[in-house]
Amino acid sequence: MVRDSSGQIVGVLFSGEDITERKKREQKLQESEERYKVIAENSFSAIYIFQDERFKFVNSAFIRLSGYTKKELMSMDYLNLIHPDYRDMIKKTTEQALTGDISNLPREPDFKVIRKNGEIRWVKLMPAVIKYTGKPAIIGNVIDITKYNKVKETLQKTYDELQKTNAQNEQLFASISSIIISVNENDKITQWNKISEKTFGIAAKNIIGRPFHKCGIHWEWAIIAEGILSCRKKKRIVRLNDVRFTQANGNKGYLGITINPIIYKTHRQPGVLLLGADITERRRAEERLKQYQFMVESAYDAIFFKNLKSQYVIANKKTLEAFALPLEKVIGKNDYEIMLNKEEADKNIKDDCIVFETGKSKKIIKQMTGVDGKKRWFQTIKVPQFDDEGKIIGLVGIARDITEHKIFENLIKEQNEQLKKLDQMKSEFLSTAAHELRTPLTSILGFSEILLKRELDKERQNKFLKIINEEATSLANLINDLLDISKIESGQGFKIKKAPFKLREVIMKNINFFKSQTNKHNFQLNMPGDLVDIEINADKDKIYQVVENLLSNAIKFSTQGGKIIISVEQANEKVKVSVIDNGMGIPEKDFPYIFKKFYRVENTLTLGIRGTGLGLAIAKHIIESHGGEIWAESKIGKGSTFSFTLPIHT
Ligand code: ADP
Repeated sequence: MVRDSSGQIVGVLFSGEDITERKKREQKLQESEERYKVIAENSFSAIYIFQDERFKFVNSAFIRLSGYTKKELMSMDYLNLIHPDYRDMIKKTTEQALTGDISNLPREPDFKVIRKNGEIRWVKLMPAVIKYTGKPAIIGNVIDITKYNKVKETLQKTYDELQKTNAQNEQLFASISSIIISVNENDKITQWNKISEKTFGIAAKNIIGRPFHKCGIHWEWAIIAEGILSCRKKKRIVRLNDVRFTQANGNKGYLGITINPIIYKTHRQPGVLLLGADITERRRAEERLKQYQFMVESAYDAIFFKNLKSQYVIANKKTLEAFALPLEKVIGKNDYEIMLNKEEADKNIKDDCIVFETGKSKKIIKQMTGVDGKKRWFQTIKVPQFDDEGKIIGLVGIARDITEHKIFENLIKEQNEQLKKLDQMKSEFLSTAAHELRTPLTSILGFSEILLKRELDKERQNKFLKIINEEATSLANLINDLLDISKIESGQGFKIKKAPFKLREVIMKNINFFKSQTNKHNFQLNMPGDLVDIEINADKDKIYQVVENLLSNAIKFSTQGGKIIISVEQANEKVKVSVIDNGMGIPEKDFPYIFKKFYRVENTLTLGIRGTGLGLAIAKHIIESHGGEIWAESKIGKGSTFSFTLPIHT
């Protein structure tokens, strides 16, 4: 028997042999045993020898692991060390091993042990059956794997979770209409769902297991390959928009794809999961929408959509311009909240209601007051909008700003009226002109006939000749006026020939002439001393013509006679000449027209007063051609003042 230092038997020596030999062997054995004991004792792993239901040897690591003393260990039931869950397994294994049957033994069982303090530890046992004191014994190496197992446990949990979420994902994947393609780390396709089959027209059974790069999908492979490369390298999701591909029906389409890395530590590179969708329709719709939006945005008209509450749901740039408001102040609001003029808003909403009630389009021309207070004209059409079931959901409005058009229309209207009036005036003029021409001609013809047929005394001859001369002069004036106006009209021949002349001379010459024409009127010239010699640079004959016309009118339209004042003043760089009479005056309604050609005031007062309505039109043209102004002030029954200005130095 060989005992260890504590007196325990550690081996059995064979008997009946040569004692010397035996001694030698005994010594050798003891030496090797000692060596092993030293090794076992100092080993970090817990080592024991077990036989006959008892520990025969335990090293210090085993003592530390168990928490018991060596003595306790040596005498205790070893099963007390084993966690109840594993007692049966260990018992059975131990018994079986000790009988020498090692066929079904677990090679390195993992189990839980209970330390003296009740603490539970995971251990891994590496047992071997040896002969100890001639009988089978178990030598075990116990490794504390608690820490390792904790990690394993968490891993297991995570794995279970993963499995669970994977299962959920599978379900999710099955329920969504996405293309799902899994490609493993070796580039083989491992998953190909129904949507992929439908999208590409390739059955799963024909593609699963094939190399991804040779799978036969007609798509922009270079883009996909680059995406996969980048996904694997960066281990991040890569998104690809608008990848061109050929649909199952052979048409060209677009895919939206995300490439997701599937990372396994053990694999040399991540697998990838491709999730995608055929976005051809969406893209087309988007394009159409974009086009539509562009059309709407760049439209010349205001285009808007209103819901059944008359709130603006869509409003393009032009609509916003019409309100001069930003988008956020228009969307979701109705006209009451936007428009300044409540009546106009009321009318707008009433029109909306008619469209909603009748379900018919409505055309409206209306005025709208902008935030700037300006009134603008709009031609609007409101078209009802229905949903798929024919239920009315709102209206689309198209409004065109026709203010310019309206202004133009009014202008045309006005001009038409003027043309009509002009036409009327022209025919009136023709009869007036004919009359005006005939009157002097009749006198001329009559008096010249008398002169020719009869022998008259000198005095009567002179009298008649004078009449003929006067009438011929008025005829010549009339014809001159007509010629002037036609020259003005055609823009040809009516030339201004400027030369300096004394204004006073022209006025005096006129006064003197008219003095000889009337004895009911008297003339007064008001000209301040410093202006007496004033010279102006103008067309002398034409200025004479203007003064002549104003004086002749003053006389004609103050039939009662009276004073006619000609006043000359200087204002700044201009000289102002006014002809003031105490005559019949001009009715207010005729005022805007008296400087227009052929215009004559026609009432009981002017009845029988001869004229063509050309004089003032010609005068205005002459004065304005000199850079001056001409105007009238008048009060009916009180008289009129006609004034003109001329620049002194030109
Ligand atoms: P005519 O004198 O040949 O009618 P004018 O062009 O000189 O044409 O004048 C146009 C019209 O203006 C006249 O017909 C008359 O009705 C009005 N008018 C012009 N001068 C006077 C005036 N001094 N007093 C009242 N009415 C006047």
